[in-house]
Amino acid sequence: MPKLRFYFPWFDRKAFPVLAGLVAGLYLLEEVLVLREQHQSKVRRSVINTAVAASGFAVVRAALLPVMIWAGTVASRRRFGLVHWLGLPRPARYVLGFLLLDYTNYFWHVLTHNVPLLFRLHRVHHSDMDMDVTTGFRFHLGEQVFSILYRGGMIALIGADPRLVLEYEAVFEGCTAFHHSNVRLPKRVEKMLALGLITPRAHGIHHSIVEEEFNSNFGVVFPFWDRLHGTHRWELPQQQVVIGMPAYRDARSLTVSRLHTMPWEPIRPWALPDGSVPRRGAADRTIVEPGDSQSASEGE
Ligand SMILES: [Zn+2]
Repeated sequence: MPKLRFYFPWFDRKAFPVLAGLVAGLYLLEEVLVLREQHQSKVRRSVINTAVAASGFAVVRAALLPVMIWAGTVASRRRFGLVHWLGLPRPARYVLGFLLLDYTNYFWHVLTHNVPLLFRLHRVHHSDMDMDVTTGFRFHLGEQVFSILYRGGMIALIGADPRLVLEYEAVFEGCTAFHHSNVRLPKRVEKMLALGLITPRAHGIHHSIVEEEFNSNFGVVFPFWDRLHGTHRWELPQQQVVIGMPAYRDARSLTVSRLHTMPWEPIRPWALPDGSVPRRGAADRTIVEPGDSQSASEGE
């Protein structure tokens, strides 16, 4: 049996600085090219999201990544997993493995919306009432812990080798930062990108307080899986998307300690504090939310 390794030179010394640069670049760019109007202090949210991310990131780097690499090493040494059983040549194994890793992460995201225990953890991420690149780190450490078994198991079933696992992980992290960012790309450019990638506009819809929109655009890297399963949603002006969860509308109460203990809170009905359910009006596609002054005519 291979030993667990904890240091990955390519990832730590090459991919990580590139990812850090990408995050910093998006963080600055979203100040200039604003996609959705923000309602809270970016500094305050950055501090909160980074504080939540710190423990989650520790789990990712100290446990998730080593276990995923270990699973990939065991699978490739034993020639275990789908890409080996199909007897494919190496390049085809790589391409199919990459696609399947992304497909299994689509399903993981669907599970976090539908399995109550996972939903309790995942709502920490969705409770952010504005969305930018820092939301992309705001994952409860418990969600990362539960993903270890799932992602490690899927890597073994796919038969992804360790190099592919590391390279996919770097792309996964980069795409997560990108599609959470509040960067307004020219609509035409984003439409082109959206043919092959999950984009900020698409993922913004996923963070809507309207339940059907929250249950759409689950993909991480590729949008194909959403199209395949009918969960793809695109035609929605971003100024009409209200970010967050309906049951959590008081940003001041969402402190770092509250977010860490949120998984122990009961699951609340999908309704605003006044009991009304946010819906997209059929005619004007506005959202029913008290105090929401955003105009329905603000297209883009
Ligand atoms: Zn989600």
